[in-house]
Amino acid sequence: MQDLTDLYQSVILDHNRRPRNYKVLPAANRVGSGNNPMCGDQITVYVQLDGDRLTDVSFQGSGCAISQASASLMTLNLKGKTVAEAEAIYANLHRMVTTGKVDEDNLSDLAALAGVHQFPARIKCATLSWHAALNAAKGDEKPVTTEKPGD
Ligand code: ZN
Repeated sequence: MQDLTDLYQSVILDHNRRPRNYKVLPAANRVGSGNNPMCGDQITVYVQLDGDRLTDVSFQGSGCAISQASASLMTLNLKGKTVAEAEAIYANLHRMVTTGKVDEDNLSDLAALAGVHQFPARIKCATLSWHAALNAAKGDEKPVTTEKPGD
């Protein structure tokens, strides 16, 4: 089990060090932002929405390794998906970071974030960029803040 933990940590460290799709997206027609004052994480997400499909996703921001790695993984996982598919992927991620349970039949690089469930204060770090992206994709571009309890 220790090896798995190490593997997951290496994914997070790699994405934190070399975040993917870390850029402004000139073609973006939706922009969302997130702020997690508990930790100091700030994220801006750029979504190019074509109909109900997220044809491209990028982000910029600053904060802890979990928040940056989760945003980087998010861009890879949501690109090309419909809004409904994106919500299903987020639901799966949310279950992993809150329970630590990984769906063995549906493994992805997002399983790297399952260890976050051991640190409840960091769950918001992992979900911030996803909230911002999904809200923006659904037309709600109000900044997301984690002040509210419950998610
Ligand atoms: Zn954080």
